[in-house]
Amino acid sequence: MSATILLVDGDFRFRALVAAVLRAQGFEVLEAGSGKEATSTIGVDVPDLVIVDGALPDTDGLGWISLLRSRGSDVAVIFVSASSRDPLSHRHLIEELKVASVVTKPIAPAHFAELVEMVLGSAGMDRRSQVEVGEGVAPDFEKELKRLRRAFREELPSRLRELGDALVAARKDPAASEKLGAAREIAHRLRGTAGSYGFLQVGEEAGRIEDRIVQGLEEGRMDEGAWRETMQALEQAERGIGANPHSIQQSPYNALARVLVVDDDLNFLNLVREMGRASLVDVIGAPTATEALEVAQSSRVDAVIIDAHLAAGEDAFALGRALRTFPGKSTLPFAIASVDLGVENRVAAAHSGASIFLPKPLSGQRFEAAVRHMLAERQRSLPRILVVDDDPDFARQVVAVLGEERMVVTSIVDVANLLEALAKEPPDLLLLDMEMPGMSGVDACRLVRMTPDWQDIPILFLTAHTGVDARIAAFEAGADDYLSKPVVPQEIRTRVRLRLERNRLLRERSDRDALTGLLNRRALFEVFPARCAEARRHDRPISVGLLDLDYFKEVNDAHGHLVGDQVLMRLGRLLSARFRTEDLRGRWGGEEFLVVFPGETPGTIRGVLERVLVEFAEMPFYDERGEVFHCSFSVGIAGAPEDGSSPESLIQAADRRLYIAKRGGRARVESEG
Ligand code: GH3
Ligand code: MG
Ligand code: MG
Ligand code: MG
Repeated sequence: MSATILLVDGDFRFRALVAAVLRAQGFEVLEAGSGKEATSTIGVDVPDLVIVDGALPDTDGLGWISLLRSRGSDVAVIFVSASSRDPLSHRHLIEELKVASVVTKPIAPAHFAELVEMVLGSAGMDRRSQVEVGEGVAPDFEKELKRLRRAFREELPSRLRELGDALVAARKDPAASEKLGAAREIAHRLRGTAGSYGFLQVGEEAGRIEDRIVQGLEEGRMDEGAWRETMQALEQAERGIGANPHSIQQSPYNALARVLVVDDDLNFLNLVREMGRASLVDVIGAPTATEALEVAQSSRVDAVIIDAHLAAGEDAFALGRALRTFPGKSTLPFAIASVDLGVENRVAAAHSGASIFLPKPLSGQRFEAAVRHMLAERQRSLPRILVVDDDPDFARQVVAVLGEERMVVTSIVDVANLLEALAKEPPDLLLLDMEMPGMSGVDACRLVRMTPDWQDIPILFLTAHTGVDARIAAFEAGADDYLSKPVVPQEIRTRVRLRLERNRLLRERSDRDALTGLLNRRALFEVFPARCAEARRHDRPISVGLLDLDYFKEVNDAHGHLVGDQVLMRLGRLLSARFRTEDLRGRWGGEEFLVVFPGETPGTIRGVLERVLVEFAEMPFYDERGEVFHCSFSVGIAGAPEDGSSPESLIQAADRRLYIAKRGGRARVESEG
């Protein structure tokens, strides 16, 4: 019997896309366009999984799930939302509403299908009825996707016209907020659906429009500037219809790494392909950003190289960031390649989150080094699993099974070396054999849990014992889960993956400051010294900036604490959107922030911080009366080794310079004194 999935979304085009990919996988799919429809469907059929959009036409998805749970249903739920959730509602979804997964639109159809499979897999479902077991999505789906895409593109102009009309109506009648609300709904739908069909630009611009409207609704008005931005976004969206979502060319070349190269210069693409062949790297070329997104969406990509100057209307930096929004690609490294070697361009690249800057023309050697660098970077952020089992063959088997999952798996056969192994290369998850000579798995687990550093690490037992006593002993010793031997590859993959994901969420929650979304002080105290030690070990520079808002007391006094909080929140967002992924950004104290740049010197980060300062100083803030005001901050910079190499000495030097910056008139970055 195949599993039944109920798909609840207000946009029928989105439903069509998701239904097609799920049907191609052999699932039975029921559709509902509203909360009411979904409720009545559930009264008749009992689905194995419900996929719910966050904003339904008649209710919000969260409320609908609450209702479902209050009626005693424990059906698996995937929550889909067009904008990422704040940590609080995320927690509510996972913990109280028992949602299996929260997905942000646009979705990548193939990845989404994988996720569904994983969720159903963990719910013990077997859904393959007629479809052959195989990797990826059935070939029929490709054809169906093409057809759906064509249909969607055909109606895109009229959807945008509808949005334009709604915006014009709202602008004419600013007092009627329901007009603005209607425009928002159209923008909201487009935001999630267009991107999922591969029209990323249309989706992004629609998102921009929705955000603008939401801000307007919150503030009770939209000023001229906001309208101008909205209309510009609409124009950009219209332009995005022309972009062609091509299908992907799979390379038959079986290589170690897959690198996506985005460049409109076909000669360059050919050259890089040759280089790839020489250094065992599989190069996939894409002449446009749209095509690049397409490739990344439907196939494995380990690193990306993007030309800084793509064809008109395409932004290389935005592309790099967009790629990272895909499921499983949040740490995807990318390089910016450019003939323009100017400092401006380099700074912009670093600013956008690029890992490296590649000067053109590119030599084969440099290409290879860049790819190696990017892969190493990715590797560092892959989850690490430690397997402890006295049977080396079994350990090897587990390593092979999990290695396919983009996890770094190491194993030890002698449990006596466990603590040493934990200290040497701290893992994210521990797999413990139950029976081992010397020390039982249960004792080893207890030992690990007694060490303060390891109280939160997920521990899974591997056991040939299926008796309830053994299981209870394992849980009492602090285990999170157990797997019976012999292990089923799919099961161990899924359990480990879900456990890691859950732990990541938990950790993120306790490491994050709720207001700004940045690392909190506790987390900074943990990570910052580690980065300093790493820099020392590798003899690399590291720099820090200590930021303090200027005259912030006055902001609070003049406009109230809530408005002050808004300022803090938006500065937090700005800081997390800028810089590279490996740079640390945290809230150091009330209105003070710490940024840490491994591998950089004060000389290079000065310019980067100055840019962010300009950007922040230009941001308009609104008080309760709708009056605009502006804020600024001051920064003190310090760097190792010149200011010492301990975290304390760096903070001290940065603090001293922060004081100098304040005395010198504020709104500046100070690196001397
Ligand atoms: P300066 O330019 O010298 O830094 O002036 P300042 O007014 O910013 O002075 P100071 O750094 O001493 O003031 C910090 C103020 O920040 C005091 C406090 O009311 C405010 N603050 C600290 N944390 C928060 C917060 O979480 N929310 C809000 N709204 N205000 C905060
Ligand atoms: Mg054993
Ligand atoms: Mg202060
Ligand atoms: Mg201050």
